[in-house]
Amino acid sequence: MIELTLFRTGAVDIARAAFAPWLEAPARDERARAPVWSALVRTPEGDILFDTGLHPVHVTRPEATFGANSGLAVVMEEADAVTARLATLGVRPDDVAIVVNSHLHFDHAGNNGAFPKATFVAQADHLAFAKGKPNFPGVYWDIPELTYVPVAGRSTVARGVAVVPTPGHAPGHQSLVVDLAETGRVVLTGDAAFTRENLERGEIPAMDQAAAKASLALIRSLVDGDLSRVFTSHDAAAWGTWRHAPASYR
Ligand SMILES: [Zn+2]
Repeated sequence: MIELTLFRTGAVDIARAAFAPWLEAPARDERARAPVWSALVRTPEGDILFDTGLHPVHVTRPEATFGANSGLAVVMEEADAVTARLATLGVRPDDVAIVVNSHLHFDHAGNNGAFPKATFVAQADHLAFAKGKPNFPGVYWDIPELTYVPVAGRSTVARGVAVVPTPGHAPGHQSLVVDLAETGRVVLTGDAAFTRENLERGEIPAMDQAAAKASLALIRSLVDGDLSRVFTSHDAAAWGTWRHAPASYR
């Protein structure tokens, strides 16, 4: 039996247009607080963590990564640290067998260093793209002690758990597909879809627009159009409708 638990790892305050390009002034410049979250997937083959959240350095220094004028403000409490969240679920960092990173931005790979015993699954082209780039700060993920297993394309992580490339936000971005016994197939999109509205409209701000639109269509098809089974990355409205730790999906 696979069990999926979603938990918050902080939040970011950001202009609404960053996720919703269809907005017009003044709405596009309004600030919104978007959740940042990770997920624990417990399987008979071991515990899998999807994304590692924001590094706790941001609790006392919200500007630590990109400075005070980046247009993005981190909001984080001590309890949001991924290791603190896992502890409340009875999971120690060394219990995590596999970490899947959707991609290596600081709000998705910020605590990779806390899991030196895990195997990290990322797309090969994403690893190559992110390496050395200032907007993928290596301090959080490009750490010699960590073991990355580069994959190319769709890849099974455990029985009923697979990564699927969903590029556009960045080359080699990937989403996690989990087949649950009661809920059915769910997709953890990462930044391939920030909000459910991105999927409904087929529109999202992205590095590669054509790839991003194809990824939105792929995600919709993976759940046969049932967006209640899609967990989008920074979705304040949808977050309130989902089950959170300690509640879970089975
Ligand atoms: Zn993100």
